[in-house]
Amino acid sequence: MIFRTVSGYFDHNATTPVAPDVVEAVTRALSETYGNASSVHAYGQRAKAALDDARGAVAALIGAEPAEVVFTGSGTESDNFAIRGSIEALAARGRRRVITTAIEHEAVLNTARHLEKRGFQLTVLPVTADGVATVEGLRSAIGSDVAIVSVMHANNEIGTIQPVAALAAIAHEHGALIHTDAVQSVGKIPVDVRALGVDLLSLSAHKFNGPKGAGVLWIKRGTRMQPTVTGGKHERNRRAGTENVAAIAGLGAAAALAAGKMAVEAGRVSALRDRLEAGILREVPGTQVNGARDSRVPNTTNISFERVEAESLLIALDLEGVAVSTGSACSSGTLEPSHVLKAMGLSPHRTQNSLRFSLGMFSTQEEVDRVIEVLPRLVEKLRGLTRRPVTA
Ligand code: PLP
Repeated sequence: MIFRTVSGYFDHNATTPVAPDVVEAVTRALSETYGNASSVHAYGQRAKAALDDARGAVAALIGAEPAEVVFTGSGTESDNFAIRGSIEALAARGRRRVITTAIEHEAVLNTARHLEKRGFQLTVLPVTADGVATVEGLRSAIGSDVAIVSVMHANNEIGTIQPVAALAAIAHEHGALIHTDAVQSVGKIPVDVRALGVDLLSLSAHKFNGPKGAGVLWIKRGTRMQPTVTGGKHERNRRAGTENVAAIAGLGAAAALAAGKMAVEAGRVSALRDRLEAGILREVPGTQVNGARDSRVPNTTNISFERVEAESLLIALDLEGVAVSTGSACSSGTLEPSHVLKAMGLSPHRTQNSLRFSLGMFSTQEEVDRVIEVLPRLVEKLRGLTRRPVTA
């Protein structure tokens, strides 16, 4: 199958293009480092050295010790491991409750709901109209029965950064563990596990120019956890299964690349995002930004388009070679409104007419300007199909 080359990729929060350095690291590992990292012979030791290099690069990116880095198969697996592994370790001490927020990724929300069905307790914290979980909300919900508080660092749909350090302090006052899903912040903004004050942190390589299928759960030294994948003694008995050396080598290369370019890249990308956002608000009447604009990751904007169904606009943009996303998930043919925008109290109409634009390493000003150029015409055309005047 031949795909049209898309020079308007604005869906980096879904996944990112793999950086050339990463492709090289993965290819080299696939062809040269094929030993099993658990084997004693030289082939095995070379594979183990590749894992150690990647572990060091990830640790450096998040201010951790290499021994605290556990490789997993995805961000989703890391979230599962954090929540299931800690509640299983702490349930016997009477800690049988999970607290999370209404705007988490499904990897966290559905894991917590699954545990609730199995007899554990669940509290889902509301968020403000800006899409932020509050210290007061956690303070009023927490108790000595809580095993783990899981609050994402940056939201995948609107990009808002959550007050994780303040929430961590409250969790610890009550003897609970705190996990943060940092899948959308690692590689985009500085992330330091000690400054965040968390016990567990999830990240995923494919969100910062690494390969898919490589994630990490950072586990603070001394944290009591039960493994969720059992078997051999891999990853210091934390996560069984022969390590995917090539993908992990790619993760390491992506981590090193992110650490090197982040300071400059964050400024460049946020300038492009701001240009895009300002251009859309200026050129397209009836548009509004969703979520807090002051505390966001630099690459994300979520915009609602009055009187336009987001799904139709997404398809119209795709035909122009521009890839964006709606926050909503299409399941069994029905379009679910975004649970994030809903939790922020947006009207049902607005939850259905919002698009996410997420930029990245290869985004250019030309691409941004092209979106600003084509969008007014597409929106006007779609609005022409309905008759009501624009009110926003
Ligand atoms: N958490 C967040 C906030 C995400 O945005 C994603 C991916 O979209 C995930 C978890 C899941 O990561 P993965 O795709 O590696 O399973």
